[in-house]
Amino acid sequence: MADHDTLQRRGLMFILSSPSGAGKTTIARMLLERDGHIGLSVSVTTRPMRPGEVDGRDYHFVSDAEFDRMIEADDFYEWAHVFDHRYGTPKGHIRNALKEGQDFLFDIDWQGTQQLYQKDQQDVVRVFILPPSLKELHDRLRGRGTDSDEVIAGRMERARAEISHWDGYDYVVINDDVEECYGKVREILEAERMKRQRQTGLIGFVRGLMAPDAE
Ligand code: 5GP
Repeated sequence: MADHDTLQRRGLMFILSSPSGAGKTTIARMLLERDGHIGLSVSVTTRPMRPGEVDGRDYHFVSDAEFDRMIEADDFYEWAHVFDHRYGTPKGHIRNALKEGQDFLFDIDWQGTQQLYQKDQQDVVRVFILPPSLKELHDRLRGRGTDSDEVIAGRMERARAEISHWDGYDYVVINDDVEECYGKVREILEAERMKRQRQTGLIGFVRGLMAPDAE
């Protein structure tokens, strides 16, 4: 039986952005764990690894020289300076996998979002997650216990700047409650998968439905 899960469609590039501490990483992890059809685009970064992070899973951690080499080799879809380091989305196998219907999740900032959108408006879905308040954001950043006061102050500054780009997104979700926020993000993903333009297999399916001898 043909249903929306079995019909051929293009994959989508599902971008989640937010100021750090707004819960984006948690939501991203929940999506990856609970949705069997979306893979993570693992970024390349020059920033040092944080405790608990794994090379190749959270990021590909590289030196400045290696990052330069990758720019030179045109290995990135997009890259940007974020805080004091560089981050980039490697091209890898993404383009071909999209054609085969694989969805990808991108945890990138507004600069990367703009660059990806300019390159591929058809496949990109842009979701921005807002914290309920800046105080809450500050508390969450402190609660992580991974960054110094100075780093946290820098991140708060950066959060204001990041939030000012909220209008460059298709969807905005306030993360008051993580399960609720996840539910909304999941609904966005499901709805975007149903978009007619994305469902390349629909033509054949509808033709079959309309065939004179179809029951
Ligand atoms: P963190 O260092 O906290 O993991 O990430 C810092 C910021 O860099 C986050 O806002 C994250 O979304 C952004 N970021 C991570 N990977 C990429 C990337 O490949 N490209 C861009 N433009 N931003 C990224």
